[in-house]
Amino acid sequence: MISVEEALERILAEITELEEVQVALAASQGLVLAQDIVAHDNIPPFANSAMDGFALRSQDSHLLNGQPPRLSITGSVAAGYVAEHSVTEGTAMRVMTGAPVPPGADTVIQIELTHYDGPESTWVEILQEVAPGNNIRPAGEDMRIGQTVIQRGTEIGPWEIGVLATLGYATVSVVRRPRVAILGTGDEVIDVDEQLRPGKIRNSNSYMLEAAVRHAGAEANRLGVAQDTVESLREKFREAATYDLILTSGGVSVGDFDLVKDIMTEQGNINFWRINMRPGKPVAFGHIGGVPLLGLPGNPVSSAVTFELFGRPVLRKMQGQTRLLKPQVTVVVEDGVQDSAMRRHYVRAHVEWRHDRFIAHTTGNQGSNLMTSLLHANAFVIVPEGGITIHPGDTAQAMMLEWPEV
Ligand code: AMP
Ligand code: MG
Repeated sequence: MISVEEALERILAEITELEEVQVALAASQGLVLAQDIVAHDNIPPFANSAMDGFALRSQDSHLLNGQPPRLSITGSVAAGYVAEHSVTEGTAMRVMTGAPVPPGADTVIQIELTHYDGPESTWVEILQEVAPGNNIRPAGEDMRIGQTVIQRGTEIGPWEIGVLATLGYATVSVVRRPRVAILGTGDEVIDVDEQLRPGKIRNSNSYMLEAAVRHAGAEANRLGVAQDTVESLREKFREAATYDLILTSGGVSVGDFDLVKDIMTEQGNINFWRINMRPGKPVAFGHIGGVPLLGLPGNPVSSAVTFELFGRPVLRKMQGQTRLLKPQVTVVVEDGVQDSAMRRHYVRAHVEWRHDRFIAHTTGNQGSNLMTSLLHANAFVIVPEGGITIHPGDTAQAMMLEWPEV
């Protein structure tokens, strides 16, 4: 039986980043850039006005005999258009926010600091001196041509998409999403829309894992449920081996019908199949036909917890992410964890920030078959190996499931 750390290390050593693909900008959210993003234009592309106001020569804004100077208005430039003539001595042009600064003008005064005779006015009085460059956004102020603006390896979020759109990247090169095969196992497992019959239970794992896989940014494909026979498993694995990762649930323990390990030996290899943790001791890792296979336990809670610990980091690494693991913080376990185990225990808990500290409440009975212990959990309180009891009010480390990876 190996430790959680060793298991994770052995798994990740076998996982590599997937190839890059070109995707439409709008489809790139959440993916990792496989290219440096270089500016092929200056941004802004031209000097433009930051205000609605008047473009003028700054020396024309000086007081004249103690009076505000009066300039003649020779035209107007709206955003999206260019001036047809220059601003010359003693003149000004109306400009709108975002409009190119007309040639000859070296400054813009905002409308509130001027006086003029309505929209048809032919003159404007400049009520304050303005320095050169006032209210002008120079070309290239934000991004300069040739500059690397976003590095390869960055996850694309809404703000990166904004920058990419500004730079005219209609498509971007990203690391592609992994395609994951999800396979249930067990003669007792029926689909969600079937009537319960004696001895049967619904396939919760495949649906839960599908959602968890998507939540991790990958593409999930439920391949149904294999019966507990070598033939049925072989057939399902033939299809599963065309994916980037195979996730199974159940069938990896030591029962008479736990045949997933047999197929792994037959068609690939087993790296390990037991981890010193609770819930989730029977986790198998290896390959089938060259495709990595993570065999998760059948018990729904074990399946959920081990996916978070091992499956999610695998999918992140495949997607080119470098931050793979959820952060841990020290929490006060208000209700304590009484039942001690020799194995490392991941206790589902709700953590909140109260009175300047993180307070954890466990979600009640922690049996690995009790799915309701997952509801309301946003953290795993980690009880170290060795049969340690956490008394009410003791501190422990907690893995924060809703915080971004570090
Ligand atoms: P196993 O490891 O196959 O012996 O399964 C352990 C427990 O998990 C058994 O009680 C199974 O009935 C249950 N189980 C297995 N697969 C699923 C599934 N897809 N959904 C819900 N429970 C399952
Ligand atoms: Mg089974």
